[in-house]
Amino acid sequence: MPKYIDAEDVLETIRLGIWYLCENDEGGAGTLDFVKDSIAAIPAADVAPVVHAEWQEFDDPETNAWECSACRHVYVLIGDTPVENYYLHCPNCGARMDGGAK
Ligand SMILES: [Zn+2]
Repeated sequence: MPKYIDAEDVLETIRLGIWYLCENDEGGAGTLDFVKDSIAAIPAADVAPVVHAEWQEFDDPETNAWECSACRHVYVLIGDTPVENYYLHCPNCGARMDGGAK
C-alpha cells in the first residue's frame, strides 16, 4: 500500500539533506541515508486513493436497477438514472462515478 506524505515535509527534508551534505558528508552516502531515514519518519497523511467507476444498467427489465462497476453493489431507483438522481459517488464504496478506471 502506498504511503502518502506531505510534499512540504519532503522539501524540508531535502533542504536539511543539502545542509547535512555541506556540513558533514563529503562523499554523499551519509546524506542519502539521512534523507531516506528522514522521509521514512514523516507521518503518513490521512488520505485514500480515488476509485473511478461508472454506473451500469443492471440486467433486470422489471426494475430500474443500476450497478457500481467498482464494488458491484446494485441500487434500485424509483426513476431516472443515478446521475439524474445526483449519485455522483457510489454510496457503498465511495467510487467517483466519472467513467471507470483511468
Ligand atoms: Zn461501489
